[in-house]
Amino acid sequence: MESPQHVVVVGAGMVGLSAAWFLQAEGVRVTVVDRAGVAAGSSWGNAGWLAPALTLPLPDPAILAGGIKATLKPSSPVYVPLSTNPRLLKFLVDFARHCTAPRWRAAMTVFAEANRQAFDAFDEIAAAGLAEPTKAAEPFLAAFASEDDRQTLLDEFEHVRELGVETPAELLDREAMHALVPALGDAVTCGVRLRDQRFINPGRYVNALADAVRERGAEIRTDVDVRDVRETASGVRLEVAGGESLTADAVVIATGTWLGSLARDVGVRTIVQAGRGYSFTVQPEHMPVAPMYFPAQRVACTPLGDGLRVAGMMEFRKPGAPLDPRRVKAIIDAATPMLTGVDWAARTDEWVGSRPCTADGLPLIGRTKSSRVFVSGGHGMWGIALGPLSGKLLAAQVIRGETSSLLSSFDPLR
Ligand SMILES: Cc1cc2nc3c(=O)[nH]c(=O)nc-3n(C[C@H](O)[C@H](O)[C@H](O)COP(=O)(O)OP(=O)(O)OC[C@H]3O[C@@H](n4cnc5c(N)ncnc54)[C@H](O)[C@@H]3O)c2cc1C
Repeated sequence: MESPQHVVVVGAGMVGLSAAWFLQAEGVRVTVVDRAGVAAGSSWGNAGWLAPALTLPLPDPAILAGGIKATLKPSSPVYVPLSTNPRLLKFLVDFARHCTAPRWRAAMTVFAEANRQAFDAFDEIAAAGLAEPTKAAEPFLAAFASEDDRQTLLDEFEHVRELGVETPAELLDREAMHALVPALGDAVTCGVRLRDQRFINPGRYVNALADAVRERGAEIRTDVDVRDVRETASGVRLEVAGGESLTADAVVIATGTWLGSLARDVGVRTIVQAGRGYSFTVQPEHMPVAPMYFPAQRVACTPLGDGLRVAGMMEFRKPGAPLDPRRVKAIIDAATPMLTGVDWAARTDEWVGSRPCTADGLPLIGRTKSSRVFVSGGHGMWGIALGPLSGKLLAAQVIRGETSSLLSSFDPLR
């Protein structure tokens, strides 16, 4: 295929818009389409962390340590409702197969390389004048109710260190933790201070990216529900609900947790399963200035504007299922002892969104069976942190045919 002049990107989340931005940087005309709107999927209500220290593969032996039975409880941070859905069962079996130490190490080696490159892609976008900044996460605290809980995170950092990556972390006692962040609750007895991490306001960032992409000449069309993508003799053709069709020289499918429905026909067999997470906003008496993490509770907090976003849960079920209030309650119950001065009843912006998860924990980025159809998705817990890098790697492949070693690890036909 000759280098394409016009590319359609399907999906206006962090991943699709990042692909659009870097395709434009390669000199290509881009049209972005989304069936809902900009940041309408999981790119809105997430925690917004750009935290290489925590950007680790999801399939981890520790996930199974709690036992399968625990995951059936609606209050469990990793929740698998009883289901006979064959795709979900296949995903779960495959996921469990990847929760071994050797497979975690293999995936972590890939993540380590991606983490090394991730900030550069953000900085490239910033240097071109993006209106929304990335912010230094200072002080970024992981807080614990016990030394045992803290040891679990330290063990994880040790496993990462064995692969040659130092996590910039410092141990803090109760006094130091509470002095740094007065919003921490009485239950917090010790912690870890992470250095060199960043965060963003994800909704604002993705909208700023959309504005930048428009200013650089792209059209962004919403209410465009793509039903089918086909290669033709001279390009690609996208069939849209309602009868319209679109044409281009190439297409990037970046539809998050819905990737499979368009990508299966072009050879992408890996299941992308919704790992649903929840968030809401509270107004603590003492507003933290940087993210906080409660690893044992699996709760993430991020200051956004004048509120604190509280996020958590991993629920393997259909992306379209309604928000389950039991899951919000489980987050509140877990976070209450860890924070003080919060009126939980006054929470706003309750939200559920679907992390696009793969069983091996690695995204799917690159060319499919069709030389004109590309995908970028399946980033699971880390599509915000890795979105720009994914866009950069993919654009180099679409336009210049370049396949970096990272892209080989993300091969969507694996
Ligand atoms: C609670 C929670 C906390 C998180 N915290 C973090 C974090 O701190 N850091 C981090 O890096 N990641 C985090 N994530 C993960 C991150 O949100 C996702 O990995 C990322 O948003 C995925 O982006 P995406 O662009 O692939 O998908 P999405 O943002 O879901 O975008 C997909 C888009 O495709 C559109 N679409 C789908 N199908 C079609 C179709 N057929 N036609 C047209 N349009 C279509 C949708 O409308 C949607 O807008 C978190 C997720 C959750 C749920």
